Amino acid sequence: MQIKRVWDNQWLTNRGELVLELEEKLKQYLQVSNIILTNNGTVPLQIALKLLGDKGEIITTPFSYVATSAAIVWENCMPVFVDIHPEYLTIDETKIEQAITSRTTAILATHVFGNPCHVETIEAIAKKYNLKVIYDAAHAFGVSYNGNSIFDFGDISTCSFHATKLFHTGEGGAMFAKSKDIQHRLFYSHNFGHNGPLEFYGLGINGKMSELHAAMGLAVLPCMDEIIKDRKRVVDFYNNNLDFSKIKALKIRENTKWNYSYYPVIFKNEKQLVKVQEKLNENKIFPRRYFYPSLNTIEYSKGQSMPISESIASRILCLPLYFNLTNVDLEKITELINISLP
Ligand SMILES: *Cc1c(COP(=O)(O)O)cnc(C)c1O
Repeated sequence: MQIKRVWDNQWLTNRGELVLELEEKLKQYLQVSNIILTNNGTVPLQIALKLLGDKGEIITTPFSYVATSAAIVWENCMPVFVDIHPEYLTIDETKIEQAITSRTTAILATHVFGNPCHVETIEAIAKKYNLKVIYDAAHAFGVSYNGNSIFDFGDISTCSFHATKLFHTGEGGAMFAKSKDIQHRLFYSHNFGHNGPLEFYGLGINGKMSELHAAMGLAVLPCMDEIIKDRKRVVDFYNNNLDFSKIKALKIRENTKWNYSYYPVIFKNEKQLVKVQEKLNENKIFPRRYFYPSLNTIEYSKGQSMPISESIASRILCLPLYFNLTNVDLEKITELINISLP
């Protein structure tokens, strides 16, 4: 039905009717005052770093998807890793200050698995040292913290609407900012810098979402409440049935309305993870090693050792979590895990 509108309009991209409608509906759904839809969740990171990173040192987390640190290197900035909190798995805010130098320009932190960073402390540090804050909120669709959308925090927040994410448009993403000035710069940056057809505000790139992708988003958005509710059922099942004397679950930050986007479990060691993964694979169940390896160990962004992130990355596994995952399958998954561990 949404796709038919695209054919009827004969308008395929450049912020057509469907993109504008999806922006309005997402503003309402997410309770945010501003959103710019984009072609994926990586270009908004690059735009944010281009605008605020100033080719400086960017304090960042080693525990995220590779796009977070790759965007830093791609924009000719330098990633400076700060280790993560062992339970929340977000950047350890108590270790940020000691990593700041005269070349630090920004902090780029990930609300990993939709779990909010310690945004108050990060904001206070940024203020004290005059740094910009960018949140990679790719996993954080629908999350609120202390009653506010998680996208309200930092100078810029970005999200991904990739097919594997909670809410998706096939490929797609979004960026959010509170300041009118930053909103303006984000906007023209994602549209080649255009100020009308013949003039330019500044440098830009093509970060626009197409009408076809917006059609997918408009089709998926009305299902989100039901999807999230059903994912909560799956998460509750795991919480009630996994044997937590042998593994650990993610600790969600206090005062968070979470989105049930991922169900990571942390094993005692990598050997146990591999054993469980093999057992599940034998039964045609395919969990994912999100996120491995720790980003500070990748050649092009090599940083100092990050003992907690490296340790967690080697023994964390995301269990199957999707709409309509049946109780029969859930029983099988939990039993296979529980009996595989000594
Ligand atoms: C998926 C993801 C991205 C990249 O988003 P794309 O839409 O795939 O470009 C960036 N950061 C994190 C943390 C992600 O999980």
